[in-house]
Amino acid sequence: MTLDRVPLVQPLSRAEIERRANRLVAEIDPSLVNSPGEFPVLEVLEFRSLELLGAEFDVSDELEPGVEGLMDPTMNTPQIRLSPEVYAALQEGIPRARFTAMHEAGHAKLHAIQLREQGLKVQDGRLVFELYRVERRKLRAFEDPEWQANTFAGCVLMPGPAIMSLAVCGGIQVSAVQRLFGVSYSAAMTRIEKLGLRGY
Ligand SMILES: [Zn+2]
Repeated sequence: MTLDRVPLVQPLSRAEIERRANRLVAEIDPSLVNSPGEFPVLEVLEFRSLELLGAEFDVSDELEPGVEGLMDPTMNTPQIRLSPEVYAALQEGIPRARFTAMHEAGHAKLHAIQLREQGLKVQDGRLVFELYRVERRKLRAFEDPEWQANTFAGCVLMPGPAIMSLAVCGGIQVSAVQRLFGVSYSAAMTRIEKLGLRGY
């Protein structure tokens, strides 16, 4: 989920996010770090979420209208929740749903524990959860949890070494990236540009 106002999180550089993403991919299948292939998003969420993402996965029809997924850091174990529509799209391997799921996984992996510690407080003798939020546009990219989650999703779905292996003369065929990694045109283009390559 992406909001205009976001909680403060530990700043993370692109390089650090890339390292953590590669570590996760290697835990699933080391060959996926270096050669193109589809990261098994659904399998990870359904069978290895707690072990690999430190979060429980659930499909929820109680998300607010328009919300496709969220990461809830208020519970003892962080929760990744996806709407039934996104879950169905994920089962069909729809690129946008794969990205949404890994965006929420990024929130879980990168800052769920910090958010829980920041948000839990005792008020009038009761335990409440409330996060101080700032406007996204006042943050630099690497301080923004939404930027961090998007970057994580892009890095997990298209690991640096694997995507670079497709480069010919500094350029990459966008449709090949889409097909081989199971990502959308815009996700592929963003990743290609961030790696300093040309898409064609
Ligand atoms: Zn988000």
